[in-house]
Amino acid sequence: MEFNCPGCQKPLAVEGQHAHCESCQRDFSLEARCPECHKPLQVLKACGAVDYFCQNGHGLISRKRVEWTPVGH
Ligand SMILES: [Zn+2]
Ligand SMILES: [Zn+2]
Repeated sequence: MEFNCPGCQKPLAVEGQHAHCESCQRDFSLEARCPECHKPLQVLKACGAVDYFCQNGHGLISRKRVEWTPVGH
């Protein structure tokens, strides 16, 4: 996955669920968003697996379809 900084559009250094912009010195969290409505997804953890659920009527979203968005702190 590659993300650009929302501030300066430079590529972010991604580590797990976190991203960092070298030039702005800002940290971001990668938030799971629905690919249909772009709203944050509810994270459901069950039996070691993680599912993502859209509360706006799009139901379960498979990990592959999740739209990851860098969110500043
Ligand atoms: Zn930046
Ligand atoms: Zn949705």
